[in-house]
Amino acid sequence: MISILKQPLRAGVALIMTLTVSVMVQASPADKYPQSMLYSAPVKVADNVWSAIGATQYYTYENGGHNNNLSFVVGGDGVLVVNGGSAYLLAKALHDEIKKITDKPVLFVVDENGQSHAALGNGYWKEQGAMIIAHEDAVAEIEQHGLSGLEELTGILKEQIEGTEVVAVDRSFADKMSLDLGGLSVELIHFGPAHSAGDISVVVPERNVMIAGDMAFHQRMLPVFPDTDTAAWLETWRDGFGPYSQNMIIVPGHGEVTDFATVDKYTRGYLEYVRGKVAELLDNDGTLEDAYQIDQRPYAHLETFEQLAGKNAGRIFEAMEFE
Ligand SMILES: [Zn+2]
Repeated sequence: MISILKQPLRAGVALIMTLTVSVMVQASPADKYPQSMLYSAPVKVADNVWSAIGATQYYTYENGGHNNNLSFVVGGDGVLVVNGGSAYLLAKALHDEIKKITDKPVLFVVDENGQSHAALGNGYWKEQGAMIIAHEDAVAEIEQHGLSGLEELTGILKEQIEGTEVVAVDRSFADKMSLDLGGLSVELIHFGPAHSAGDISVVVPERNVMIAGDMAFHQRMLPVFPDTDTAAWLETWRDGFGPYSQNMIIVPGHGEVTDFATVDKYTRGYLEYVRGKVAELLDNDGTLEDAYQIDQRPYAHLETFEQLAGKNAGRIFEAMEFE
């Protein structure tokens, strides 16, 4: 009798253990590159262009602050890095990978905006002699919020934050800047307002590559911040970014390398979807509470959906009340 009972019990325990393991994996995905502070090793996007794809989650100790894409372009004279990274040691980890590919110096580091994972590692690169470049609005963002960002990340990354300081950006621009890496040119473009202050994209025309930055999302749900103007983001998409990048290889700010149709679906498509639902609510005297409840199931498979979906709809509601 007892031995017959044992089997289903064991199966039950095994099932519970499997469930626990899969829940843990979802909460904190395994680091794809444990021997490095990077979450994953750089992959070749095209000739001369590489990207280390970050975790699509929030900052954690385990992902080492590598939760955005850190890309680089190798020219005849030297290297351009897109994003300083979240921390000094993370920047160094990326540099260790660059050195495996080329012995040329890192000439330029371009921050895709003023967020911590774009800018806090800049100090490492400055020490290597690189010129730090960002949009003028990103410069203001770093000056205003750099220190609080560093404080927040210190709590998360602990000893991995060692050496990290907020440093001044060396050069800024408003609309466009061209750089020559030696036989290979790179364009830095501010297409217009998008998800945060000073968002820029880095284009390698000869390789048909668009390193879009936080202009374009797909695997991760896009965030709407208190100061994100989603109407302006859509306009920037329609008039600038979209027509420009239609046939290009897209390296988004987060998640794997993809194509225009995919980021169009999850950036323009998502913004239009939520704005459409909010407009319906406003027409029917809906409230902010109703906005939090908007059905966003078509996007439920995206990473960070749980943290962002309700918040995004609430912020869009608050903004559209005054549009
Ligand atoms: Zn980002």
